[in-house]
Amino acid sequence: MRLVLVGPPASGKGTQAASLCDRLRVPKISTGDMLRAARAAGTPLGVAADRFMSAGKLVPDEVVIGLVDERLDAEDARAGFILDGFPRTVPQAESLSGLLARRGQVLDAVVQIDVPRGLLVERATLRRTDKRTGQIYHLKYNPPPPDAELEHRADDREETVAKRLDEYEAMTAALLPHYDQQGLLRRVDGVGKPAEVFARILQALGIQ
Ligand code: AMP
Repeated sequence: MRLVLVGPPASGKGTQAASLCDRLRVPKISTGDMLRAARAAGTPLGVAADRFMSAGKLVPDEVVIGLVDERLDAEDARAGFILDGFPRTVPQAESLSGLLARRGQVLDAVVQIDVPRGLLVERATLRRTDKRTGQIYHLKYNPPPPDAELEHRADDREETVAKRLDEYEAMTAALLPHYDQQGLLRRVDGVGKPAEVFARILQALGIQ
């Protein structure tokens, strides 16, 4: 299956992507991860991308499209993939169609994880990570043990979350209707336990 997974910050997209990869036996392709790896390795592309990433701006289309183009040729992506963080714009979506068409492939679906804004803010602002184990907790729904060394991600603070949600809404305002017109969009209710949301995604994709 060739999927695009779309969801706002704190929608559980990361968890669902991992479950889908496991179930479908396909890799997750995340342009954010690839760009961070390039930056950490200090490649020319990584250095160039860092200027945009540090400023909270989108990296130019030709850079991310080039990365995805190369990644789609890897052996593990032949039978399918889950794209995360790409496409972010309609021009990127059109380029993706072109990249796939050249390989005789098509996208099967675009899954949108839908969570009301108020709940997203509550999820993100009360999210804490144990520095030692990397385990993620929620102060209300999944409280940490007393000995956890808790850390609050800088981008999970309320004002940053509001800004990230605004950006997400602006980004998807054109992208989701674009895929809806093509009959590819599957909106899934993202409120509930991870396993419940996962079952809804499988159902939306017609997988038993
Ligand atoms: P993410 O981890 O998906 O939030 O991506 C982190 C950063 O990488 C973004 O803020 C952008 O600067 C850049 N980036 C990731 N994916 C894309 C994309 N599809 N188009 C442009 N920039 C991207």
